[in-house]
Amino acid sequence: MEFLKLFNKISPLKIGSKSDQFNGWIKCDQCEEMLHSKEVQQNLNCCPKCDHHFRLSGKERIKLLADHGTFEELYTDLKPIDPLNFVDSEPYKDRIKRAQKKSGRNEAALVGTCTLEGRKIALGVLDFSFMGGSMGSVVGEKFTRLMELALSAKLPLILVSASGGARMQESIFSLMQMAKTSAALSRLHQAGIPYISVLTNPTTGGVTASYASLGDIIIAEPKALIGFAGPRVVEQTIRQKLPDTAQKSEFLLEKGMIDCIVKRSELKYKLHTFLEFLSDNQPDERDDSKKLDELIAQSQKNRKKNQIKVVDSCKKKSKSR
Ligand SMILES: [Zn+2]
Repeated sequence: MEFLKLFNKISPLKIGSKSDQFNGWIKCDQCEEMLHSKEVQQNLNCCPKCDHHFRLSGKERIKLLADHGTFEELYTDLKPIDPLNFVDSEPYKDRIKRAQKKSGRNEAALVGTCTLEGRKIALGVLDFSFMGGSMGSVVGEKFTRLMELALSAKLPLILVSASGGARMQESIFSLMQMAKTSAALSRLHQAGIPYISVLTNPTTGGVTASYASLGDIIIAEPKALIGFAGPRVVEQTIRQKLPDTAQKSEFLLEKGMIDCIVKRSELKYKLHTFLEFLSDNQPDERDDSKKLDELIAQSQKNRKKNQIKVVDSCKKKSKSR
C-alpha cells in the first residue's frame, strides 16, 4: 500500500500557478471538465460549463467590484506581531513571513475606499490565500478602522469574506476581534449606515460568528461553504454523515440565514441596486475627497493611540514570563 502515498503528493492545479501557466489547463472541481485557464479567467474565474465559482484573490475581488482605478488602499502599514510566541508545527513568526513573502502583502485583509458604479463606498475583502483568510488582530483592526471611517464619513460599507475563521495562533487576541468588529458595526447600525456582507467560499468559524453575519443584507455566492465548524468536525461530533447540500449557500437561504444568492457576474450590479435601495435613492453627496482624507488621518491617529497600549501590554506580558 506504500505506493498510495504517492497520490497524496499530487496537489490540484491552481489558477495562476506556475504549473498552470505552463500547460494552461485546469480541471473544474464540480463538473470535472478540462478548462483552459484563460477561458476561466475571462469568465470571472467561473467555469464556463457549469458556472462553478473558483476562488478569487483579494486583488481580483477588488477589481471585480471597484470602478477601475478608484480603489485606494488604507492602513497598509499594519503588520501582525506574535504576542504569544506561538509555535505549532512551525513558529507563528515563520508562518507569517512565509505568507507575506508568497502574497507580497502584510496581512490577509485589504481595506480602502472606492466607487462602485459611481457611488463612494468603504470596501474590505479577505484574501484566502494568506493563512486561509484567518482573522488575527491586524485583520480585526483593519476592518474596525474601516467601519469607523465608514461611520465618520457616512460611507456605505461592503465586506467580502473568504475565511477559515479566527486565527488560532493569536488565540484570545483573535477572538477579541469578533467582539471588536461587532461593536463597531453596532455603532454603524445605530447611525443608519448601510452594511452589506458578501460571503464567498468558504466563510467559517469566528468570521461567520461575528461581522460576516451582521450585514443589513447578507449575500452569498452560489454553493459557497458557510458555517461555524466545518463539515468534517460536525460529522465527527454528531457521528452522522452530513448531506452534500448542508452548510452550502442554497441550504442557508432556505433556512433564512442569508438574504440572497448572487452569481459573480451579477454581483456588482446587485450590490449597486441594494446600495441605492438602502440609501433611499438619495444622490451621493459625500464625495468630498478632502474631507475624507482628514477623516482617515483622524481615525488613524485615534486608533494608533489604542494600538500602542495593546502592543505595550503584550511586551510587558512576554517580559514577565
Ligand atoms: Zn465546471
